[in-house]
Amino acid sequence: MNINREEILQKLRLQVKASRFKHCLGVEKAAQELAERFGYERPEVAALAGLLHDYAKEQDQSEYFRLIDQYGLDSELKKWNSSVWHGYVGWLKVKEDFPEIAEEYPEILRAIEIHTVGSGLMTMLDKIVYVADYIEENRDFDGVEKARKIANQSLDAAVAYETAHTVEFLAHKQVPIFPQTIETYNAYISALE
Ligand code: GDP
Ligand code: FE
Ligand code: FE
Ligand code: FE
Repeated sequence: MNINREEILQKLRLQVKASRFKHCLGVEKAAQELAERFGYERPEVAALAGLLHDYAKEQDQSEYFRLIDQYGLDSELKKWNSSVWHGYVGWLKVKEDFPEIAEEYPEILRAIEIHTVGSGLMTMLDKIVYVADYIEENRDFDGVEKARKIANQSLDAAVAYETAHTVEFLAHKQVPIFPQTIETYNAYISALE
């Protein structure tokens, strides 16, 4: 892989605060480990996707709106919030800022796009990034140990567990749930015996 990690780290550091930078390093490591555990053919690609997954997390609303307008995404997206935008729109910022990665590994952009909401049909790389984001070593919440245990056994079950908890969390907060999050729930929940 002719990608300079130090250069990526420098650019990432300029975009996110220190705690999120640390989280990104944790997701890089967790994604690499999941890739090795489940036999994903390019663990270094999974690691890179993990490293970059939250690159666009701290953009202003105006920047997400610019991307939505410039690339012709559905303007209904503007009704959501940065939780949804940073992946679902943010992958376009990664594409702009890392054209060589986008060219060589377009699958990374897709994994970043759906890392928060998932999808009804996820590739192994999509699942790895989605799960790594949840279980990386800096995460500390009720249920994270269970999530890590499940992720040792089955990627699909780990996707299901994470999505069920996210849906529960959002419903408890009484905030809107992005329809694609429900699709992910319906597609994977049966993997959780
Ligand atoms: P992070 O970027 O590392 O903090 O993790 P994620 O990208 O997975 O999630 C960011 C936030 O989005 C979390 O607080 C989730 O609870 C929230 N989130 C996930 N799915 C949805 C959804 O469908 N609707 C809304 N409103 N928020 C969501
Ligand atoms: Fe995120
Ligand atoms: Fe997540
Ligand atoms: Fe994250």
